[in-house]
Amino acid sequence: MHYENVLATIGNTPLIRMNRIAQEIPAKVFAKVESYNPGQSAKDRIALFMIEEAERAGKLKPGGTIVEATSGNTGFSIAMVSSIKGYRCILTLTSKASPEKISLLKSMGAQVVICPVDVEPADPRSYYSAAERIAHETPNSFYLAQNFNLDNAEAHYRTTGPEIWKQTRGKITHFVCCAGTGGTLSGTARYLKEKNPDVKIIGVDAYGSVLKKFWETHEYDPNEIKPYKVEGLGKNIIPHNMNFELVDDFVKVTDKDSAFQTRDLAKYEGLMVGYSSGSAMQAVFEIADELSKDDVVVVLFSDHGSRYLGKIFNDEWMVEQGWLECEPAEAAAGMGS
Ligand code: PMP
Repeated sequence: MHYENVLATIGNTPLIRMNRIAQEIPAKVFAKVESYNPGQSAKDRIALFMIEEAERAGKLKPGGTIVEATSGNTGFSIAMVSSIKGYRCILTLTSKASPEKISLLKSMGAQVVICPVDVEPADPRSYYSAAERIAHETPNSFYLAQNFNLDNAEAHYRTTGPEIWKQTRGKITHFVCCAGTGGTLSGTARYLKEKNPDVKIIGVDAYGSVLKKFWETHEYDPNEIKPYKVEGLGKNIIPHNMNFELVDDFVKVTDKDSAFQTRDLAKYEGLMVGYSSGSAMQAVFEIADELSKDDVVVVLFSDHGSRYLGKIFNDEWMVEQGWLECEPAEAAAGMGS
């Protein structure tokens, strides 16, 4: 038995019971661990689906260039699909992306353009504007636009949703998932709600993002925007892929809680997952009061921890944030936690 190429190994990620970390939570908690994708994140699913839909629609032709604005994971998946299918790939990132992510993208053959993080999306310097400009100036190019291209959520409607339904034998009662573009949350939720409208959908947002406030008020409030550390979670725009009507509750989580939860997932469950996975786990704790022993919670972990070795898994970085109380020298010696 073999796979024709790496793209054939995308999806069908495992559902793993959380035991030690979730001991205090009355419900059964399972993680849908998307780091098992070949590109180590859920973004493999959308990159493959969006690119193949663009091919089918004639928007992407052989020898073409794919352009995207990305926090890193989508970029990696696009670079991977591009390398197999023979497309050129140009990615714009904000300066918040970790150096590890940037190196990985380059190693997959992508061209990377770094843009400032603290500018309005409409500013010509923003990573969105830069991607649009590059796509406009490059002949035979396709701008994926993961925030607005509805094939993003559709990919999860067709794959992640059915997988979770099957893996829980339809017993899922709560789905907890980070929202960035909203594709993972909305596509998966739409499938689950079609199967059982009583499944509760819990969105996870960052302090500094506009999503939760928009869900509450239906208004875009730029005052919500401030810098934060978690990558991939939250937005400073309202993405079309975010279907707010599917969300039963939105939980905001802090950078610090997210960091410690991610470290605990490694320590207690042996799972090296990314920073936003800690955010999602933190959200499960924040709704724990509403859960009972018959509930079946699925929490989605978006990516792998290897991309954050210089950050949350680095004690010195944790000390610099003021989250670990010891000197960097001690932390480096492994005495920080
Ligand atoms: N976590 C990480 C690490 C991500 O890269 C992303 C994607 N931006 C998300 C969470 C949120 O996923 P989505 O864009 O599907 O809402």
